[in-house]
Amino acid sequence: LTKPQNPHIVILPTPGTGHLNPLVEFAKRLVLQHYFSVSLILPTDGPIPESQNTFLNTLPSGIDYLLLPPVNFVDLPPEVNIVTRICLTITRSLASLREVLKSLVESKKVVALVVDLFGTDAFDVANEFKISPYMFYTSTAMMLSLAFYLPELDKTVSCEFKDLPAVHIPGCIPIHGKDLPDPVHDRKNEAYKWALHQTNRKKMAEGIILNSFKDLEPGAIKALQGKEPSNYKPTIYPVGPVVLMNTSSKVDDESSQCLKWLDEQPRGSALYISLGSGGTLSHEQLTELAIGLEMSEQRFLWVIRCPNDRIASGTYFNVQNSSNPLDFLPNGFLERTKGLGLVLPNWAPQAQILSHGSIGGFWTHCGWNSTLESMIHGVPLIAWPLYAEQRLNAVLLNEGLKVALRPKIGDNGIAGRLEIAEVVKELMGGEEGREVRRKMRELQDAAAMVLNEDGSSTKALAELASKWKEVSHH
Ligand code: UDP
Repeated sequence: LTKPQNPHIVILPTPGTGHLNPLVEFAKRLVLQHYFSVSLILPTDGPIPESQNTFLNTLPSGIDYLLLPPVNFVDLPPEVNIVTRICLTITRSLASLREVLKSLVESKKVVALVVDLFGTDAFDVANEFKISPYMFYTSTAMMLSLAFYLPELDKTVSCEFKDLPAVHIPGCIPIHGKDLPDPVHDRKNEAYKWALHQTNRKKMAEGIILNSFKDLEPGAIKALQGKEPSNYKPTIYPVGPVVLMNTSSKVDDESSQCLKWLDEQPRGSALYISLGSGGTLSHEQLTELAIGLEMSEQRFLWVIRCPNDRIASGTYFNVQNSSNPLDFLPNGFLERTKGLGLVLPNWAPQAQILSHGSIGGFWTHCGWNSTLESMIHGVPLIAWPLYAEQRLNAVLLNEGLKVALRPKIGDNGIAGRLEIAEVVKELMGGEEGREVRRKMRELQDAAAMVLNEDGSSTKALAELASKWKEVSHH
């Protein structure tokens, strides 16, 4: 007798830890709460980062993964926008994806293909195999609302969007055009065409799974769900926060040293500084940050990268660099801050750090995963957006949700040491800091509620799961 097979979901994360992490956590929920099995299929453009390798090798049973052969990018100019590069990784992987899906459908009951925000070109392959196309959206409801609004902006506005004094994304607070995501800043750039392309194809999805929740972004979610069900808008499932939990997986020496250091600090006393997987600072900004931190006299744990004077997403495709980031710190900085601060080169076990009681604040680039990871632990933010949709997130966090302080940037594009020292002191011990902390704790409670047994995110996931199980019965 053969055991009845669990319905199977295929997930296709596009390159980037910020896509992989939430998709893996989503897969875990499908397996543990709804008894699906999952295959992760990863398009690549070379060897994957060591941190992702370690992570993928500790997946629970019920989830397997496979790396597609690396695509060839010799024809791309070195400064090509990351959105273009990510999208091309998918389009150039379609043939190998087709091969893999072909053998999967022969052995398993595959019911859905889930891509992330840049993976819609794979929908055609899903359709060929009669597998339902879905999207897991790794950013905010605000960003998704903007994506659906973009074709209208494209038709009605003739200037560059960044010159618009106010953009009214449906359901959201107004923003200045300069805070729109990078790919829409230059309408002549290839990346803008990709952004429009992904938006148009989003409508092919049967559903969009959103890493947000109703209490967090009520206006944007309502705008996305609110209209009459029309024949083009996919069903929206707000299931968030879907966040990497403090995994007990083994950590390397450097990481365990930093957790030990945290154990020795007073409760809520340390500021965690990290710019996600891709964020880099110019050398000048790195210097100002170091000296500002030192002047603030606050405790800190800083994940530091080699500076990059040209692009702010300097480590997106490869976090390692042959140089030692510590060499770029101001003279004597490490000696002078010894005991008060700890500096970690390149990478840190962020989920564990943010869940540690000694952390009292997070200087973040406003990547959506980092933001949610901070939220579930009630840790307030200093918003330091760098690229992609991070400025949009910063506006939401600072002006909309009021859970983040934001340093002022000077005319030279740099935040100076005095400003940095002030904002750090304010977050860790000032009146405004207390207020953003209180707001963040409210969101922490709200996030816990929606994930309860009868919370809205739990229900949305259950609804999706039962739809997928229905498909598998036909
Ligand atoms: N991350 C980490 N260690 C680091 C930097 C990042 O574990 O040193 C993880 C972080 O916890 C998050 C993801 O990488 O899950 C980054 O995603 P996010 O959306 O915050 O930013 P992105 O890297 O996409 O800009």
